Amino acid sequence: MEKKAFVTKEQIEKIVKTYPTPFHIYDERGIRENAKALREAFAWNPGYKEFFAVKATPNPYLINILREYGCGTDCSSLTELMLSEAMGLDGKDIMFSSNDTPAEEFQYAAKIGATINLDDITHIDFLEKSIGYLPKTISCRYNPGGYFAISNNIMDNPGDAKYGFTTPQLFEGFRRLKEKGVERFGLHAFLASNTVTNEYYPILARTLFEVAVKLKEETGAHITFINLSGGIGIPYRPDQEPNDIRVIGEGVRKVYEEVLVPAGMGDVAIYTELGRFMLAPYGHLITRVIHEKHTHKEYIGVDACAVNLMRPAMYGAYHHITVLGKEDKPCDHKYDVTGSLCENNDKFAIDRLLPQIEIGDYLAIHDTGAHGFSMGYNYNGKLRSAELLLREDGSVRLIRRAETPKDYFATFDCLDFYNRLKF
Ligand SMILES: *Cc1c(COP(=O)(O)O)cnc(C)c1O
Repeated sequence: MEKKAFVTKEQIEKIVKTYPTPFHIYDERGIRENAKALREAFAWNPGYKEFFAVKATPNPYLINILREYGCGTDCSSLTELMLSEAMGLDGKDIMFSSNDTPAEEFQYAAKIGATINLDDITHIDFLEKSIGYLPKTISCRYNPGGYFAISNNIMDNPGDAKYGFTTPQLFEGFRRLKEKGVERFGLHAFLASNTVTNEYYPILARTLFEVAVKLKEETGAHITFINLSGGIGIPYRPDQEPNDIRVIGEGVRKVYEEVLVPAGMGDVAIYTELGRFMLAPYGHLITRVIHEKHTHKEYIGVDACAVNLMRPAMYGAYHHITVLGKEDKPCDHKYDVTGSLCENNDKFAIDRLLPQIEIGDYLAIHDTGAHGFSMGYNYNGKLRSAELLLREDGSVRLIRRAETPKDYFATFDCLDFYNRLKF
């Protein structure tokens, strides 16, 4: 699929007069269309709900757009729970899918009425001790181990993942929870990440549905929801075919009717916790070319770096790059596109064929709407960028200001370092 930026050079030239680069910009129209398509794809299931994975893009303005389409939030930590609470979400719209969870996070989740998704069998006692009781509704995270494969194609390696209950632990856990008075159960699994195939969810659903039927038969647990979690991917590379969410929704429906309905479980709600699929394609990191360097390779130096987008440095991830204003020029120059960190892995692209680049060009780095800004950090004293929302009417709204040096100094609170500056 051809990858096109959702902004033009002219738009960016106007925006930078108010908001200097680098910044992340999000496309409201794309976000809305996608959220609507997801809702429609699962409309066959009356209890369906998407809990947006806050860690992917923890920005209340963006999450509020998703809420208009019925989304809640999926939190992994205390501050994400606090953000959800501050945004006015009801407990029933908050999922808490954490692991290695501190007691105070369970306490906070219980206080705001979030649904707790346990990562481990030992957390049953830990939760009970932490909050003094067990909630009437509890979810457990399942990890069947082994490899997750789709027709001999290994997608991921759950056997090597730290998450979830094993199969015997799941049955024992459900029994114990039931004895302790839990009335409603959920089942959750996240077995493969960034899957660019319409088959992942249906195959995962079959695994979970079959276990759910056995759990109900053997433990008598009343399972009220099954959470397919995240993992629906996006085509980062131009040669990848995007997922079709309608096909995925239909695929899950078929398995639901085949496995759950005949077992008398036709009232189970389907939940999802998508992050990447909801927002990644609708964000760009916009950066300006400030240097070119001709040594053993051809380097293009930009004003963003890995602290603004860590995925290339961390995973060697591909992020497509559009040189704005040169969309139709031939890609006949090979570059490494680098940031300014004192780290040689600070490269947004290696040996990438791009149109000839000049200093002052603006680059749109694609698919940064999830796991982009949120993975940012302050290495080398770099500051986090602004986040902007490109609204449907073409106007731009600042939805997070850029950090300033004062923010960087803010945690030295016993010494007023910032006030010592002479310049
Ligand atoms: C990260 C995460 C998600 C979201 O994953 P995506 O790949 O962004 O869809 C959902 N659930 C849990 C528990 C996660 O850790």
